[in-house]
Amino acid sequence: MQINGTMVSYYFVCKRKLWYLCHNIRMEQENENVKIGKILDESSYRQEEKHVMIDNLINIDFIKKTGVLHEIKKSKKMENVEIWQVKYYLYYLHQKGLSGIKGKIDYPLLRQTMDVDLTTEDEQVIENMLTEIQGIAEGPIPAIPAKLRICKSCAYYDLCYI
Ligand code: SF4
Repeated sequence: MQINGTMVSYYFVCKRKLWYLCHNIRMEQENENVKIGKILDESSYRQEEKHVMIDNLINIDFIKKTGVLHEIKKSKKMENVEIWQVKYYLYYLHQKGLSGIKGKIDYPLLRQTMDVDLTTEDEQVIENMLTEIQGIAEGPIPAIPAKLRICKSCAYYDLCYI
């Protein structure tokens, strides 16, 4: 199975959500947060060539000629998830033989940026994570976890709780 950045972020957010995605159950287009993200994406960094798609799998917001990969996010609420998503992109590029690429998360609404690097330890964490994602995708639907803070804004809320 090919693993994209959304799967990586769902892995950290909720394993059941990841399972829905792996089984092509998609409801995100109705989600208000995703709409806000799209508006932000269209209105930020207009001078950059955006959405660099690699292998029809990895969708990077933009890469500067200086070798810095950028992801644009609206808030820091999911900071840890976003950091791992960027680390996965760096890992993926490294596996393809592209080394020396740096990562940066841009928060235009906060006027902040955050540097993200990939360490050898991170590579090990990512390899374990990829194995686990594969296992979740091939396994039965994970039980509904104790209600998470993000459930209320999750596009799959009705599938889990109604
Ligand atoms: S509603 Fe909650 S439990 Fe269900 S998929 Fe979304 S985050 Fe996971």
